[in-house]
Amino acid sequence: MAYDGLILKGGTVKKGLFVLSILILLAGVSAQAQPAAKGLKVFISVDLEGICGVINWDETGQGGPDYPLFRKLMTQEANAAIEGALAAGATEILVRDSHGSGRNILPDLLRPEARLLRDWTYGPLSMMEGIDKSFDAVIFIGYHARAGTPDAVLKHTMTTSLYDVILNGKKMPEAGFNGAIAGYFGVPVVLISGDQAIAQQAKELFGEVETAIVKEAIATAAIMLHPQKAQELIRQKTTGALKKLKDFKPYKLNPPYNLEVDYTEEAMAVKASWIPGAIRTGPRSVSFTSNDFMEMLKLWRLARNVG
Ligand SMILES: [Zn+2]
Repeated sequence: MAYDGLILKGGTVKKGLFVLSILILLAGVSAQAQPAAKGLKVFISVDLEGICGVINWDETGQGGPDYPLFRKLMTQEANAAIEGALAAGATEILVRDSHGSGRNILPDLLRPEARLLRDWTYGPLSMMEGIDKSFDAVIFIGYHARAGTPDAVLKHTMTTSLYDVILNGKKMPEAGFNGAIAGYFGVPVVLISGDQAIAQQAKELFGEVETAIVKEAIATAAIMLHPQKAQELIRQKTTGALKKLKDFKPYKLNPPYNLEVDYTEEAMAVKASWIPGAIRTGPRSVSFTSNDFMEMLKLWRLARNVG
């Protein structure tokens, strides 16, 4: 009996294995017919000057008495974008801390679904370090208008020693430069937050881009939304933008790439003119031309830091 029982048991096991194999096979066929949807991979570059509430340089760096408050609001706006992205189906999110020291966002207050890139590698991607062609969308939070823009909060382009950075004939805010880097990797910018001035400049450059205007600049002052309202706006706009992802096109510039740098000081143009390939184009300006976008970025990296 024990033997028969064993045969009976073995037969049952064999039948069970057969049924299981069929089920696995069917599951495989079904998986092939309907591939699982890939989650979105989102890159978020976060600056500080365009964060709701920020109006003065002494709020933007270590030593400023109100800096702890504004770095917290910066973290909360990053979180709003993360939450908006998660609601739209993001499964991978990289947050790049893009301001000053690169060490502003409070890691323990950031949503755990995101990874955070802190500090600088001094490589050519700068505020876009971490981007590559595997990303589906780029979001700019806390961005600001280019140097010299009227009615714009803390307007500047990369450093305060530059009047203008002109790329392929277009005056670039940081968002334009960084959008071109995203475009080089084939990734569209879908949303930018900041004041009304950078929202306008982003639309002029990118065409289709969602904007979350968290403050309205008047000369060097600004009317602010309440931070909670600003964060809600960013959350909703992020979800909305990612849900219509196919409407956005990567911002791709065509070679040859021409970069003109207009400094505030003559001495800086003189120093930059010693960079290989530089052409002195005016009392305070130099230009570079290359057919290689990455080479142009490397020259820009050198040119922006002469001083
Ligand atoms: Zn900044």
